Amino acid sequence: MTGTELQLLGCAKTFAGDTKALLPTDLVVKPGEILGLLGPSGCGKTTMLRIMAGLETPDSGGKILFDDEDVTKVPIEHRSIGMVFQSYALFPNMSVQQNVGYGLKVRGISGSERDDRVNEVMSFCRLDGLADRAINQLSGGQRQRVALARAVAPRPRVLLLDEPLSALDAALRDTLRDELAVILRGLSMTAVFVTHDQSEAMAIADTIAVMRAGRIEQRAAPEVLYRDPQTDFVASFVGGANRLSGRFENGQLHLEGGTLKTGIEGQQPDHIFIRQEDIRITNPDGASLRGKVIGRVYLGTHTKLTISGVCEAPLMVTLQGADAPKIGDLVGLDIPANSLIHF
Ligand code: ATP
Repeated sequence: MTGTELQLLGCAKTFAGDTKALLPTDLVVKPGEILGLLGPSGCGKTTMLRIMAGLETPDSGGKILFDDEDVTKVPIEHRSIGMVFQSYALFPNMSVQQNVGYGLKVRGISGSERDDRVNEVMSFCRLDGLADRAINQLSGGQRQRVALARAVAPRPRVLLLDEPLSALDAALRDTLRDELAVILRGLSMTAVFVTHDQSEAMAIADTIAVMRAGRIEQRAAPEVLYRDPQTDFVASFVGGANRLSGRFENGQLHLEGGTLKTGIEGQQPDHIFIRQEDIRITNPDGASLRGKVIGRVYLGTHTKLTISGVCEAPLMVTLQGADAPKIGDLVGLDIPANSLIHF
């Protein structure tokens, strides 16, 4: 892998009024790794990104390293950072080509070297044929690709993206998300991006740091986070797993809607969860666990059911296809013991 290793050592950020936006955090992003910072609003994602960029200074004691170089006191313009913002922040009076070449121009790179680099990065970001276009003649997706091309043209050591897709409408966001995943991977550049959208994080990132209240709760590859969450917050935030809370006795969980064989030996775990797609709907007659369908949303590839009467909170179930029970139906629920997430 090429690229720079990025390290935060004991980085915290306290704003005026004693707002602890970021608690002391250690983090290593390997060369060429794409890290997603995922979490709800106000959890400190942007603050962490801004500290990496040099737009915010960490509290005293915190250190930022790019490879072996301590950049904590190095201002943003000398850190060799590429930044992509939600709002594009393109120069409206310049063409696409001029925007993409801007960072090279201010670094004194001119002539054919600049042209070659601009053409290369424009082609990589699928902007061929748009070189002379004005910014206001581009779609939102094209603008964001120009912003990306402009950020990567000077070959920064680290690329930072702050909610890069959130200004786009839903359909465009899905397309650009997949494109961005391909483009970023092809760049082999150390990259960190902020998002509150878990599908975006999962599609783009090599590893995801799930943040809550100023700290990283878990950092892992998307499939590990999904299948092996280490905290109840991660289990419910990533993929919306259902919490099963009831009385646990001899490996059985007694819920409002019946009994579940958990296969768990020994003591009651603190948390038991089940993923929405791991629940099967069965005939209610003779089922050991039952509930009533109170919500049904057909989404083409799958149907989302809300089922009450099983446990405290309504149970969310995702079924493939359209052949799902109707609102008001009584249903049996099969929850395989080996699909339970417990810790
Ligand atoms: P969002 O997804 O809404 O952007 P976030 O996870 O990026 O949220 P931050 O912007 O990092 O969160 O903010 C973390 C906390 O720090 C919040 O409570 C926020 O109000 C506070 N905060 C951020 N910037 C400042 C500032 N300049 N002055 C005071 N408090 C701030």
